[in-house]
Order: sequence, then C-alpha cells, then structure tokens
Amino acid sequence: LASPLGSSVIPIVNKLQDIFAHLGSQSTIELPQVAVVGSQSSGKSSVLEALVGRDFLPRGSDICTRRPLVLQLLQIQRKPDGTEEEYGEFLHLPGKRFYEFSEIRREIQAETDREAGGNKGVSDKQIRLKIFSPNVLDITLVDLPGITKVPVGDQPSDIEARIRTMIMLYIKTPSCLILAVTPANSDLANSDALQMAGIADPDGNRTIGIITKLDIMDRGTDARNLLLGKVIPLRLGYVGVVNRSQEDILLNRSIKDAILAEEKFFRSRPVYNSLADRCGVPQLAKKLNQILVQHIKAVLPELKSRIRTALVSVAKEHASYGEITESKAGQGSLLLNILSKYSEVFASTVEGKNEEMLTS
Ligand code: GDP
Ligand code: MG
Repeated sequence: LASPLGSSVIPIVNKLQDIFAHLGSQSTIELPQVAVVGSQSSGKSSVLEALVGRDFLPRGSDICTRRPLVLQLLQIQRKPDGTEEEYGEFLHLPGKRFYEFSEIRREIQAETDREAGGNKGVSDKQIRLKIFSPNVLDITLVDLPGITKVPVGDQPSDIEARIRTMIMLYIKTPSCLILAVTPANSDLANSDALQMAGIADPDGNRTIGIITKLDIMDRGTDARNLLLGKVIPLRLGYVGVVNRSQEDILLNRSIKDAILAEEKFFRSRPVYNSLADRCGVPQLAKKLNQILVQHIKAVLPELKSRIRTALVSVAKEHASYGEITESKAGQGSLLLNILSKYSEVFASTVEGKNEEMLTS
C-alpha cells in the first residue's frame, strides 16, 4: 500500500537521488518537515495517520499524544524477490525492528508513559520513530500534543503555556510546513491552530488549514464557507476531511475503509460537490505533494550549479592527465603523468602527517 503523501513526488526525487549517486554524493534534497498543530482531539494524529496510510498512532477522545513524535519516513528498496518489507524502528530501541504497526502504537504509548508518566503528563522530550518502506517519500512528519487549557491528572498549572512553547519550537522553523487542524464543529475564530500558525507564519506561506469532523457538524450547517476561506482566509487554502470516529477506532475500522467512507460522505453531500478539490485526505495529499514539488523546483538551480562545479573539477582532473592516445609512447607518458600526480598527492599527504606529528 503506497502512502498518499508523496506518491507523485517519489519518482522525481528518486531520479534526482540517482543522478547524485552517480556523482558520488548521496541524498541531497532536503524536503521540508510537516508538523500538525491544533487543540486536543481536533484530529491531528488521525490526519497524519491517514497521510501515511498506516495505523500506528495513538488516537482517542482523551489526551493521547503527550510527547512530540518525530516520524521519519525512509524509502528502502524492494527485496530482490520483489516482495516488500516495511518496518519501524525507534531511536530508543536501536536495532529492534517492528513489523507490526499495532506494536509500534503500543511502543509509542509505553514510551510516552516512561517519560511523561501514566497520568496524562506531557513532556517535550521527543519520541523518534523511523518507518522504512519502499512506498514512502523521505520526509519527516511531527505529531504534537494538542493545546489544552485546564490541567488534568499530573499536568502542571501552566500546561497551556508549556504546550504552546513546545509547539512553537517546531512550527517557527521557516522550512516547516504547518498543518493547522480545526474541527468543523467548533468556531474557526476560536481555532488554536490558526492562532498559533498565524504567529509562526504570519504571511501564510507554509500553513495549510485542515477542517476535520465534517461528519459531525450541527444539523443544518456545513463547512462550505470555511473551505472557501470566507471565514478566515489562508493563502494556501483549506482542505476538509472525515477521519475515523471514536466508534470506528473501537471497532478497529481499517484506513482503507475510512478512505472509502470519506469518499462516500463527500459524494452524498451536494454542498461539497463543487468543492471536490478541497475535500478529502487524497486531496490533502495532493496539495502537499504540489508544495513539495514546488520546493524541489526551487532548490534545483542550486543543485544544478553544484553539478556544474563537480563537472568542471572532474574535467580539469581529466585534462591534467594529458591527451589520451593510442600509441605506446603516448600511453606511456599518460601513465607517467598519472603516476607523478599520485606521488605528488601521496607526498603531500605524508608531509601533512609529519606536520601533524610535529605540531601535536
Ligand atoms: P488529536 O488529539 O488532535 O491527535 O486527535 P485524534 O486524532 O486523537 O482524534 C481525537 C478523536 O476525534 C478520536 O476519537 C477520533 O476518532 C475523533 N476524530 C478525529 N477526526 C474525526 C473526524 O473527522 N470525524 C469524527 N467523527 N471523529 C473524528
Ligand atoms: Mg494526537
């Protein structure tokens, strides 16, 4: 199963990485990080999970995400026999491969408890998880605790300020794409997500608005005006989604079923018919992919000039070996040239070593 995020970008990035591998340098294109912000239970973890296309994040009506989860997707090759292998690995458990995504979720919960306690405590210490798969783009996603106002359990009295500081640390990075998540059944003017994104990214160049829970809006209301940006305009616009409900989670409904149910939801609501490009997780993935492609385009000139520099220096080296000729004498002088070049390099290396020995 390919993750919706990156599907159209993967071939481009792979091609570029191939070119760079030929030139002897490795990974070169750093894609921006993607972080989710919003109030508690607005659906942040649900949105990330849908984008990755795997069930592995703790979700629920209570506080679930209590530490920042830095999720690094890493593309690996298919096995020689063509079969796919996908697994997760945590920084705190090096070498241990998780092939079951439900176990990854369990480990996130256990590791959250280890650091933040079992009683709703929140910690800014990251959990770092890598997911290796042939079907993903090399990109980093960050799931963050949601903003809450009233301390519960072991939370300190200044819980709101603490969580805001923690979130800001991630989203103020100029290269971070912000997914600002607001549930459709709350007032957009009260959105913590848009308020914080507005501070971190005042020009709105890297904030996408996400409206969740379109399925549980008040009867007689719809999210048309929200999605059209008529309530609070956003440069990159909004996408509305329907994630799995708490009941779906309890019934273990799969991501695949959820995507089908979402599609059916939008098809059966005439108000959303003319807004098809801003409705559903696949559209969100598409929007993100477009932004990533733009990012790649923007860094291409720099990559090109790096290739050119590399080419020039290789050409110079090549020229320094002299003309390639077929004659024995010509070949002999070429060999001599190469040898003397090597000995020069060798001598200077040895001298360098001696100097090091003298100075140390
Ligand atoms: P987070 O705290 O922002 O990470 O939110 P979660 O992803 O954990 O979701 C919180 C609760 O809202 C869970 O019970 C989800 O099942 C539910 N939820 C999230 N998105 C939707 C949605 O679009 N529709 C419905 N009905 N429930 C949702
Ligand atoms: Mg969460």
